[in-house]
Amino acid sequence: MPVPNIAGQVMTVTGAMDPGDLGVTLMHEHIFSDFAKLSSPNYDPTANSSRGGEQLTLETLHLAREGKISAGLMTEEDVAIAEVLEYRTWGGNTIVDVTPIGLMRDTVTLRRISYVTGVHVIMGAAYFARVFPENIERLSVEELTDSIIEDVTVGIDGSGIRAGIIGEVGIEGDPISPSEVKIIKAAARASKATGAAISFHRGGVDREKLDVLRTVAEEGGDLSRVVMGHADFIAGDVPLLKEIFELGVYIEFDFLGNIGVPLAWQPGQEKVRPFSPADSAMVARTILELVEAGYEDRILLSHDVGGKLRLKRYGGMGYSFLLEKFLPHLRVGGVQEGQIHKFMVENPRKVLTFVAPS
Ligand SMILES: [Zn+2]
Repeated sequence: MPVPNIAGQVMTVTGAMDPGDLGVTLMHEHIFSDFAKLSSPNYDPTANSSRGGEQLTLETLHLAREGKISAGLMTEEDVAIAEVLEYRTWGGNTIVDVTPIGLMRDTVTLRRISYVTGVHVIMGAAYFARVFPENIERLSVEELTDSIIEDVTVGIDGSGIRAGIIGEVGIEGDPISPSEVKIIKAAARASKATGAAISFHRGGVDREKLDVLRTVAEEGGDLSRVVMGHADFIAGDVPLLKEIFELGVYIEFDFLGNIGVPLAWQPGQEKVRPFSPADSAMVARTILELVEAGYEDRILLSHDVGGKLRLKRYGGMGYSFLLEKFLPHLRVGGVQEGQIHKFMVENPRKVLTFVAPS
């Protein structure tokens, strides 16, 4: 299949665009998605949106924060428009919706939201090994690669709307499964073939990230085109962050503004469980350290709004936490305006601009 060369451009849901028009960009969000599938393998998205039939209200919010009722389904268009408009009010221009294949990507609605709000939307294309496709064991790396290439070069689900990034690639690790190895290879090959960048969900636990990146390189992937997401989990491990940076990738702190009750924390557990605003403060401290060490050209920030609880209308911080609350906090900490411009504008622009297929 001939691959079009859109080197030097970015691909949004409304078509190819000059990267200079991206402006302030959130690199890792979800506007429409169904992440309830992740918490419950038998979950039926066509049935009631919450397990046990309980609807999400202010009165049941505490149950949803504990995971006792599901809030993973994001399908309300009016709510999405209001939340995206709020981001725009705070100065936002572009949102990258990295919802993986099979978790309810909604091409046409996303394009409508982009037209209505004036915010550019870029869609992702990648697999999340644990949930989709169900028959991943039987699919070859070639088949997985071809379907990603089709999303990037032809369009998603026959809509003609093309993905602008390969992500989020659903690697959880601990340990990395054979299916996960397949989707890492497929992402690397599709990146090489199309010139699109790769955005990883977590990309393995701790040092597994280095193995994941090694696999990308072995498959011909360009590590300078790779984003390691959900780095908030290792925000307390600056030596590891530096080791990953030294491979030439971007590191993305993308759970910022996540509110919740950190019930998952266990005494003696030294790793960050980024489920409280205090953890955003810890990420801020780490960013100061990384800027000091000279890594400002490869830091990315986002919220990973990935369920109703993250939306302002359901008690969350929405898509504007960074612009509204976090960046002012970084400024107080001593981060310069030019550095913030890199995190929010220049670094996303470099990642999202296609290079020539090879
Ligand atoms: Zn993720």
